[in-house]
Amino acid sequence: MQSTLTHIECPECGKRYDANRIQTICPDCKSPLLARYDLDQARRSLDPQAASARPRGLWRWAEILPVRDEKNRITLGEGDTPLIPSLRLGESIGLKNLYIKDESGNPTASFKARGLVMAVAKAMEFKVKGLVIPTAGNAGGALAAYAARAGIEAHVFMPKDAPLANQLEVKAFGADLILADGLISDAGKLAAEEAAKHKWFDVSTFKEPYRVEGKKTMGLELAEQFNWNLPDVIIYPTGGGTGLVGMWKAFDEMEKLGWINSKRPRMVSVQAEGCAPIVRAFEQGKDRAEFWQNASTQAAGLRVPGPFADRLILRGIRESHGAAIAVSDEDILAAQKEIASREGIFASPEGAATWAACKKLARNHWIKSDEHVILFNTGSGLKYL
Ligand SMILES: *Cc1c(COP(=O)(O)O)cnc(C)c1O
Ligand SMILES: [Zn+2]
Repeated sequence: MQSTLTHIECPECGKRYDANRIQTICPDCKSPLLARYDLDQARRSLDPQAASARPRGLWRWAEILPVRDEKNRITLGEGDTPLIPSLRLGESIGLKNLYIKDESGNPTASFKARGLVMAVAKAMEFKVKGLVIPTAGNAGGALAAYAARAGIEAHVFMPKDAPLANQLEVKAFGADLILADGLISDAGKLAAEEAAKHKWFDVSTFKEPYRVEGKKTMGLELAEQFNWNLPDVIIYPTGGGTGLVGMWKAFDEMEKLGWINSKRPRMVSVQAEGCAPIVRAFEQGKDRAEFWQNASTQAAGLRVPGPFADRLILRGIRESHGAAIAVSDEDILAAQKEIASREGIFASPEGAATWAACKKLARNHWIKSDEHVILFNTGSGLKYL
């Protein structure tokens, strides 16, 4: 199982960067960079049958992941989360094929594990001594866990009012926790300064090309779970957008590998009314999102006022003929209760937001009754108590 990583590329200007050196962003375009693979080579050892026959977990896709040395492929059991068919919620609004991709069983109880395992594994590959991350909460917990596993020191910058569970888990994992005044964007400025000072590797969302590769595996798993025929609609709670961009990238790579056809799901980005920079840009037909002032929502993972990958997120939504929709915190709370009491899943507020959005989209017939629809529950509600 060899990685077929060839180079790192800027999606804006097309410039190629050396995959054997640690990379951050494109200095010319201030854009995220994306990993590229030799897919003809990958196809020789990896196909749907081979992937399905391998032991569960995210490393079974190793050929199209960026980690070269097997001994750096650390794991805490992330990935291969269940696709749970809705028994009652879908029916209650006339949807016959509603599913919940439940990410709450990942290590540290959120899908952030998928991205951070990859970033930390690459840090091992590059013999990095210290890692730094600004986080709304869950990414810090995930980084701290994998850094502990890898034996690398981690420094986590989090807003003072981030969920208590996130603050406690970071400390429990032995990482350095720095509480910042303000939002993730303020934590990000502090983190960048400290990273430069101490030569730590900054694994902020999309400021390095590896986390999105881990999130990409959600798209690979969905394809497998739907027998290599993608669903019609994916509803995804969007903060920094790694999951949305990652899945969109996965679909493209799978088509090039010959695993799926050109049919794509419509990607729906859900944000909170108190912080909806992507929704606003989508509605205004813009390809960049403006910074959202005074961001506020209890869905901590959606409190990202200036997503760095705005261009990629908006492009993915539009190419997919998708939508971007904002829901209120009140609707999120009600949705969280409904999912818990009617399906038995205690979703995070971010995950619950997808159900609130789904109801709106079904009501105005943007989603048809027989379409296959995925709600992403990105984390456990237990982390917000
Ligand atoms: C971070 C986070 C999100 C947002 O994910 P992105 O990929 O950054 O858009 C959603 N839900 C939860 C629980 C999160 O922790
Ligand atoms: Zn560029």
